[in-house]
Amino acid sequence: MLEVKDLHVTVEGSEILKGLNLTLKAGEVHAIMGPNGAGKSTLSAVIAGKEGYEVTSGSITFKGRDVLEMDVEERAQAGLLLGFQYPVEIPGVKNIYLLKAALNAQRKARGEDEIPAPEFMKLVKEQLAAMKMDPSFLQRAVNEGFSGGEKKRNEILQMLVLQPKLVMLDEIDSGLDIDAMRVVAQGINSLRDPERGILIVTHYQRLLEHVEPDVVHVLVDGRIAKTGDKQLAYDLEARGYDWVLEESAA
Ligand code: ADP
Ligand code: MG
Ligand code: MG
Repeated sequence: MLEVKDLHVTVEGSEILKGLNLTLKAGEVHAIMGPNGAGKSTLSAVIAGKEGYEVTSGSITFKGRDVLEMDVEERAQAGLLLGFQYPVEIPGVKNIYLLKAALNAQRKARGEDEIPAPEFMKLVKEQLAAMKMDPSFLQRAVNEGFSGGEKKRNEILQMLVLQPKLVMLDEIDSGLDIDAMRVVAQGINSLRDPERGILIVTHYQRLLEHVEPDVVHVLVDGRIAKTGDKQLAYDLEARGYDWVLEESAA
């Protein structure tokens, strides 16, 4: 489904990704772990098409399509979505308006009509309940005055409404208390689907106790230094990252 080959990416003149390879099949959940500054956020941002990253060589394909040829909107419409790709705070723009606009843009790209209002409300209310969010969230401006945990729930809500083909979540677990973590994990688990890929960027193994990854990658210094199964996440938690570096240098 997603194939990243020998990806080199430069940010403001310095090379951040240095020949990164990653293959993700439909139906799989992959976790990307690694030390601070390794390039994890850069990877998800480049796949999503965020500005400010220069791909100097390599390729990204999604369902056989050249992702690097697509602009950020085309990528979203093709089903590649990074959590909170939308501006962190948009003063005055209501959450519900943004969700509906994003959903309708997706439908339009598929040649479908706009979603009828009652159908949209039903869909959103179901997903709000699943995320244990109060309906008043819909009327609030996007992320304005949201707590850290509320932002994360809202990020999953967006995924549940938009149902992207590739879900990318960057640090979705940071700053969550145990209850919020469970709700977020349940949301992610309900997104699991044979037709969908899920890429979770995380520092910690904690989330992975609730969302079982099929594949765990360690990103160190701009490359995938090691790939394994969920056991690898436990090993990293116990042993840190240095041994992976030593192993990959040997
Ligand atoms: P991670 O998510 O693994 O912690 P990042 O992808 O955020 O790592 O960052 C990788 C490196 O790229 C870091 O050294 C960071 O300082 C640098 N970097 C990331 N984004 C920018 C940017 N917009 N401008 C300058 N440097 C950046
Ligand atoms: Mg960082
Ligand atoms: Mg990061």
